Parts: sequence; structure tokens; C-alpha cells
Amino acid sequence: MIEITFLGSGGGRFITITQFRSTGGFFIRASRNMYVDPGPGALVRSWRYKLDPRKLDVMFISHRHVDHCSDAEIMIEAMTGGALKKRGILIASKSVVYGDDSYNPAVSKYHLDSLEEVHTPEPGNRLSLGDEELTITPSVHSDPSTIGFRMGTRFGDISYIPDTQYFDELIKWHEGSRVMIVAITRPRDMRIPYHLCTEDVVYMLRKMKQRPEVIVMNHIGMKMHFANPYKEARFIENITGVKTFVAKEGFKVMMNKKEITVKTLRPARFV
Ligand SMILES: [Zn+2]
Repeated sequence: MIEITFLGSGGGRFITITQFRSTGGFFIRASRNMYVDPGPGALVRSWRYKLDPRKLDVMFISHRHVDHCSDAEIMIEAMTGGALKKRGILIASKSVVYGDDSYNPAVSKYHLDSLEEVHTPEPGNRLSLGDEELTITPSVHSDPSTIGFRMGTRFGDISYIPDTQYFDELIKWHEGSRVMIVAITRPRDMRIPYHLCTEDVVYMLRKMKQRPEVIVMNHIGMKMHFANPYKEARFIENITGVKTFVAKEGFKVMMNKKEITVKTLRPARFV
């Protein structure tokens, strides 16, 4: 069984600064434990859902925007036992590790040195992580080094399409995945540059010969939040026939050979 737990589903500056929807990325438990896009709240919400960040093996960071990487260093401290032992793998965009014209690196040299491996792969590169294999996929986003992935598992593939505008190549990279986690920032007819809207996703799915079993809408922006993402999910589902869920804090997807099931976890009580 492979489990994906969302610590939040908000994305974009206005949802993030207001926390109208929780933010923080998601956690994949496969043969290795991988955290994806540790945005604001990643550390605190991991504990809230009893996901021990000290047990992480891998961290994947798609790009250097703060809603995806603000908690990167503290999560690396957890993964490396307080930065005291060399442990863990970071797979991230070049902007996260090296910075770019607008941004400093998101991870200090001190934290990079505590990791066992640091990778800044290109689309098409493959990395094996225990029983799984990660294929790096491209994005067209305002951070030009943004990367996504397709994770091959023994139960089928999981695709992560992070912030990107629509481009035809997405079909080739992600066609045939069983679960697609997609950053759908905007509702129908409210497209903005460098992000996907609901119609883009419908268009992409209709062009796929082999559609996914499940889409999880993630990175809900403010306009999407107020347009009602559940209505947008029904729109995708009605046209494409693909079961579409909206991620939220505590939302969990479980995949085995036979079926994909979901539930929403209750937060643990704090004392
Ligand atoms: Zn972004």
C-alpha cells in the first residue's frame, strides 16, 4: 500500500498569507518516506497528523517560491536528526539549491552539508528511491527551473504536476499515471500566466488516451477557493469521467494493486 497525506492544499500568495486553506505540501509513504514541497506549516502539520519528520528519507522541492519551500530547512533538520548526522536525500530545482537572479538559495550551505545526497535533476532524469523510481518532469512556470515528477511504484504511477502553465508535452510525460496530483490554481475562465486552470486540466485529460483513475486538485488559489473547488472538481469529473478530489489538510489517498481509496484524517490532539 502506498499512502499520500496532504498537510494542506492552499497555493498562491493570498491563500498562503491568509491561511484560508492550510498550506504545507504532502507526504508520500512508499518504500521510502518522501516529503513534497514543504511550504508554510509543513513541520507543525506533520506532527498534527502523526507523520514523524525525523523518519523522512527524501525531500522533493519543485521550485523556489515561498509557498513551496519556506519550511525546507527545518524539515531537513528533522530528517538529519538536528543536522547532526549525514542523512537523507534532497531532490530540488536548481533555484532551490543555488538561487537565481531573484532569489537566494532556499537551503543554506549548513543544511546542504547535513544531507547525504543533493540532486538538482533535469527533466527526463531518473532517480531510484528504494522500490520506486522517480522520473523528473518539466514545468513552464515563472521559476524557469521548476520540476515535477512521475513516481513509478509496483502499484502504478503517481504524477505530481506542480505550478505550470498548460503545454502539450504534459500529456506525454504524465499519460498513464494512476494518480495525478495537479496544481490547479484557478477556476474555469480565470486563467493567469504560468498556472493551470480547470479548463486546462479538462483539455489535457481529454487528449490523453489513457486517463488517470484519480485526480487530486492541489494548490488552490484565492479565486479558486471562492469559486468553490468542489464545483470545479465536478466539472472535471463530468466531462472527463476521471474521479476528481480536492486536497485539504488531512486528506489521504491510499493506493494498492486493486483500488484507490481516500479518507480525511482528524488532527491529533495537542497537550
Ligand atoms: Zn510558484
